Amino acid sequence: MITRLLQNTDEDIAYAADLIRSGEIVGMPTETVYGLGCDAGNAEAVRKVFAAKGRPSDNPLIVHIADRADWKPLVRDIPPLALQLADRFWPGPLTIILPRTDRIPSVTAGGLDTVGVRFPAHPVAQALIRAAGVPVAAPSGNRSGSPSPTTAAHMMEDMNGRIPAVLEGGSCFCGVESTVIQLDDAETVRILRPGFVTPEQLQTVAARVIVDDAVLAQISPDAVVRSPGMKYKHYAPKAAVTLVQGEQAAFLAFMRQHTADGVYALCFDADVPLCEAEGIACCPYGDTDEARAAAFFRSLRELDACGAKHIFVRAPRTDGVGLAVYNRLIRAAGYDIVTCR
Ligand code: AMP
Ligand code: MG
Repeated sequence: MITRLLQNTDEDIAYAADLIRSGEIVGMPTETVYGLGCDAGNAEAVRKVFAAKGRPSDNPLIVHIADRADWKPLVRDIPPLALQLADRFWPGPLTIILPRTDRIPSVTAGGLDTVGVRFPAHPVAQALIRAAGVPVAAPSGNRSGSPSPTTAAHMMEDMNGRIPAVLEGGSCFCGVESTVIQLDDAETVRILRPGFVTPEQLQTVAARVIVDDAVLAQISPDAVVRSPGMKYKHYAPKAAVTLVQGEQAAFLAFMRQHTADGVYALCFDADVPLCEAEGIACCPYGDTDEARAAAFFRSLRELDACGAKHIFVRAPRTDGVGLAVYNRLIRAAGYDIVTCR
């Protein structure tokens, strides 16, 4: 199969929408990461997505809509807190899990009786979903286990020859996937996967915000968890990854001891001149949590392209958007974390 790179034109969006309506898969941009979009109600199409990604079948897909009214037929009931969250954060990088109706096939939901729904903010994603006229199920567009794609070129790297088309939409603004939440009760939000919408922001709407234990913990593959995606090794480049916790001076001292051929530091922007002065090979990934979120999947791919064998990553903070970056990094590192003082 030859994968066509489609442009952001009315004609190409209409072509991509036709593919989705006819049960095919399209690589599509969103503000979080690129996804593999298909008709969420078409079980056969959804099976193709699982196959293209190599994704375990118990890991559900998020369903994307481009109009608030399209939420209603997909879920059994929308509690007031869910409506308030949608008012505040949609369109945007928040996925809300609710009990599903049978408009969502079991395979889309990974066999669960719930569905995660999101209204993305990216104009090309909205145009595609509207043109398709169906809710679009879309997991991140990487091969299962690899860093998520944040450009159409990354999508091509992972999916060329596996899907009929990728729709160009520029670099993703957020760079990390959506925040996935469920509602424990009328006033409690539980974060199953942190994302660009932060716990602090959710707190402005919900009386209580709980970060699920699975977000920061290591989970065995046979464990039963609320969000199946959190238990798999994930987001990993070809190089080995170690997460290094510590202040700048401790990080530099650690890197001095570990410098070798193929070893790179993925560090804060402010670390770069110091690394360079010490002859430590490095790649900056930003000077704020938001910048690091936007840059880090891309940086992992770039370091692979440089032939990196081992990447030591200076750990981000665990508040704000930093929580999402940290959550991805511990999985990319296979939980190999060192603390230096
Ligand atoms: P991705 O498709 O790569 O963006 O990953 C989607 C994430 O959302 C995974 O971690 C899934 O396990 C999680 N998810 C999606 N739908 C549900 C659901 N109905 N219940 C729990 N977690 C979900
Ligand atoms: Mg993913």
